[in-house]
Amino acid sequence: MAEAPRDLALIRDEKRASIVAQIPAGYSPTFHFVFPGLLGLSVLVASLLGIEALRPIELLAVPITLLAGFGFEWRAHKDILHKRMPLLGVLYERHELSHHVIYTDRDMAMKGPREMWLILMPPYAIVLVFFTLVLPLAVGLTYALGTNVAMLATATSMVFFLSYEWLHLAYHLPDEHPIARIGLVARLREHHRRHHEPRLMKRWNFNVTVPLFDWLHGTTWSPEREARRRERQASRQASRAPS
Ligand SMILES: [Zn+2]
Ligand SMILES: [Zn+2]
Repeated sequence: MAEAPRDLALIRDEKRASIVAQIPAGYSPTFHFVFPGLLGLSVLVASLLGIEALRPIELLAVPITLLAGFGFEWRAHKDILHKRMPLLGVLYERHELSHHVIYTDRDMAMKGPREMWLILMPPYAIVLVFFTLVLPLAVGLTYALGTNVAMLATATSMVFFLSYEWLHLAYHLPDEHPIARIGLVARLREHHRRHHEPRLMKRWNFNVTVPLFDWLHGTTWSPEREARRRERQASRQASRAPS
């Protein structure tokens, strides 16, 4: 027998409480927000200061790095955050088993600053990303295409990282928050809100910043798309039915 909605609500409340209880007692939301931000902005400024005698063609490093970022975000969200991969299981657990359990399409808002622990990547993530991805890429680019390209790619990757974090945080702010109501943020928020519908999360709307790769891979879910799919299904069934 199906459980009454009230029981389901109670079960969800209990799950929520047990996940929120995992937030360490000494957790500082201020540090969690400020540390990666300051570090990212410092690397960004230092990289820009390293640019000398820039040639216009080198500016192509900016859109190319952004494209790589959007593609990486789509792939990592789909295959690392929603599948248990060897050695990376902790990321799957944090994302699908905590973040997606606490926040569903019907209940997206954080209930207080301490819940940043459930939304932002851990504070050390930016250090890890810098040393494992950005720095090797910058060294390679310095040799292959020169310092300016490497510096622009580094600066852009920091813009991308911080945009991901801050936009994701904005999507989980209460609906009435002024940042959540900015036109573009509201549209991107809706894209992410749909991803949080439990039946859709493993297949649709993986981009968090710019939904370019959802568009390219045909993984953008919207009520309009669903209506069109149902229409096609109904017309196929009607054409198959004996007249
Ligand atoms: Zn989210
Ligand atoms: Zn997800």
